[in-house]
Amino acid sequence: MATPITDAREAQATLRDLFSRYGAGRPGAQPGEAGSGRAVFFGGAGVSTASGIPDFRSVDGLYHQRFDYPPETMLSHEFYVEHPAEFFRFYREKMIAPDARPNRCHQKLAELEAAGLLGAVVTQNIDGLHQAAGSQRVFELHGSTHRNVCQRCGAVYPASWVLEQGRWAAEQGGDGVPVCEKCGGRVKPDVVLYGENLDERTLMGAVAAIAAADLLVVGGTSLVVYPAAGLIRSFQGEKLVIVNRDPTPQDSSADVLISCDIAQAFDF
Ligand SMILES: [Zn+2]
Repeated sequence: MATPITDAREAQATLRDLFSRYGAGRPGAQPGEAGSGRAVFFGGAGVSTASGIPDFRSVDGLYHQRFDYPPETMLSHEFYVEHPAEFFRFYREKMIAPDARPNRCHQKLAELEAAGLLGAVVTQNIDGLHQAAGSQRVFELHGSTHRNVCQRCGAVYPASWVLEQGRWAAEQGGDGVPVCEKCGGRVKPDVVLYGENLDERTLMGAVAAIAAADLLVVGGTSLVVYPAAGLIRSFQGEKLVIVNRDPTPQDSSADVLISCDIAQAFDF
């Protein structure tokens, strides 16, 4: 197994070198064929912790806070249907992060894409911070809090609208469940809840990008949660890099292991 790099400066130099060597793809490779996929970044909750967004699965995260149910229960499709008011209270307070800003990792990934050294970002996060940093090609496996969709007419509302509905309900005594302004239909976050399938087009796009890449950098994920582990298996390129503070079950298959803060590792 590769020896983990723990020094931030060494991590930065290693990543810079890998992106410049593999990021541009092989000369002459046509779009879609092997060697044209450049580098792909696959990220999890750890990418956003430096932006102040806690991982709801971590013990220090949302568990011991002021809700009657564990996060996994409140983020299920069943709970959304049966307890919409409680669902939206949790969603507004814990899932929407209006003040979060991209950190150095988001920014560097956007810079690498603009420089032609990164083909795509695949993320498990729903905070939209990659787009906020300027990334263009982002596969959001679990959706985004920035899109909230009327289940009847398809109207799309931003996160700020959902927050506004909550404030209005608090003042007027409503239940805080947002209702479409155009048709009165129920609005659901475009977020994949427990018990729901991933969006197939997003998943297939992510698989195709990873399968065509020469360099796959996996960061901020323990790689135990579906679909992360399976997606990594579709990678057939040259270098697999794992950037994570704690060991992951896939460490033995990585060519390069970086074990330090991910926002620091990408500060190059
Ligand atoms: Zn509607």
